[in-house]
Amino acid sequence: MTDFSLFQTEELLRPEGFECDCGMRHSAPIKFIRIGSGAVKSIPDALRAIGATKPFIVCDQNTRDAAWSAVKPVLDDNGISYGFFCFETHERLEPNEATMGAITFAYDKSCDCVMALGSGVINDNCKIIAHVAGVPSMVVGTAPSMDGYASNSSCMIIRGVKVSLYDGMPEAIIADTDIMKEAPMRMLQAGLGDMLAKYIAICEWRIAALVNGDHYCEKIATLMRRSLKKVASAADKLSARNPEVVGNIVDGLILSGIAMCFNGNSRPASGLEHYFSHVWEMQALERGQVSDLHGIQVGVGCYLTFKLYESIRRIKPDREKALAFMSRFDESEWEAQTRRIFGGAAESLIETAKAERRNDPAAHAERLNKIVDHWDEILKIIDEELPSFEDLLGIMQVSGMPIRPAELGISDDDVRDALRGSRDIRNKYLSSTLLWDLGLLYEMADGFDGQ
Ligand SMILES: [Zn+2]
Ligand SMILES: [Zn+2]
Repeated sequence: MTDFSLFQTEELLRPEGFECDCGMRHSAPIKFIRIGSGAVKSIPDALRAIGATKPFIVCDQNTRDAAWSAVKPVLDDNGISYGFFCFETHERLEPNEATMGAITFAYDKSCDCVMALGSGVINDNCKIIAHVAGVPSMVVGTAPSMDGYASNSSCMIIRGVKVSLYDGMPEAIIADTDIMKEAPMRMLQAGLGDMLAKYIAICEWRIAALVNGDHYCEKIATLMRRSLKKVASAADKLSARNPEVVGNIVDGLILSGIAMCFNGNSRPASGLEHYFSHVWEMQALERGQVSDLHGIQVGVGCYLTFKLYESIRRIKPDREKALAFMSRFDESEWEAQTRRIFGGAAESLIETAKAERRNDPAAHAERLNKIVDHWDEILKIIDEELPSFEDLLGIMQVSGMPIRPAELGISDDDVRDALRGSRDIRNKYLSSTLLWDLGLLYEMADGFDGQ
């Protein structure tokens, strides 16, 4: 069996995938990745790899300013014709019907692939238009701000509600560090924030495997740990826009996408820290406010989750207390809380949670037994996977990124609600689910704050 955990990101793209001793065959439908200085010169190779000759290029004014002067000569010198659409705005685009409609109106049907020139929203929209048009998509990244490059879903807002649309991965990803290192500093910090999340992701993945029976792959975890180590050990060079550090971050973010694809879910890349961000985003949407960058929110979520783990380390599991919590558990009170936290999005969350019997006492009792029996092992996992709270703070401070929720204008009430509601968004076993199983989530949330 090939030990792919030793491979570089660009070596993980075998069409036949990798047979793994975890019992799965891991593969990702990406055909081309190039990361590094001058990577845009490989655009002709990328087009060849995905079987395309004429890209339909989508950008906005910011990403055009950032990358077009490097991309256009490569197209011209190689005689590549293209369609081109630029959003005439420096404002952040919303991933909604209007943005999608504007691309659709401009779409050139003589093109045989869609090329996103940009990150986040532009990439998400390009995946959808490519999917609808039945052509492959590729992305030339402009900022290492999030781990959605290699992702098979798009985060969209439809009729004001945030949804994930599964529409296929970009088949080629180009990340030119000469371009990316010049991205706004907040976007570089966001990329670091989304990488720091992987500490918690791997930790909670292992706990979920132990308590909840989730599938776990040590090789994928090893890949993520190695990448994370590289990023964290040089975080102090981020503020100087060191190209190697920026390259390591974008490599880690792309690898995260591949890891998620390899495992068939988001376990290798996100844990509770992402759920703080998910709740805040849903709240902002409900209130008609604009959210901060995903990775910036996730970074703050890391701070909060590490703080929570400081308390988890001190817990002595109490089976009686947990069983008493469950026997007192009032479904209608829980529904009222979910409606209060999530507003318009609550009904579908409640419906899904009920269908999945997420509050089922029998399943709870089973997990509780595992938690109590394996508490020492859980503490060991936490010690092995998470650096100390001080080390995390050190990394965040030296990079200059926001640390506490108040820096993003998020109140302590919203912090507590995000912790209370985190396990209600999706059926994913998080540290907050562990606390819920122990009958401690709501009382710990009551005493929690963002300081
Ligand atoms: Zn595996
Ligand atoms: Zn993320």
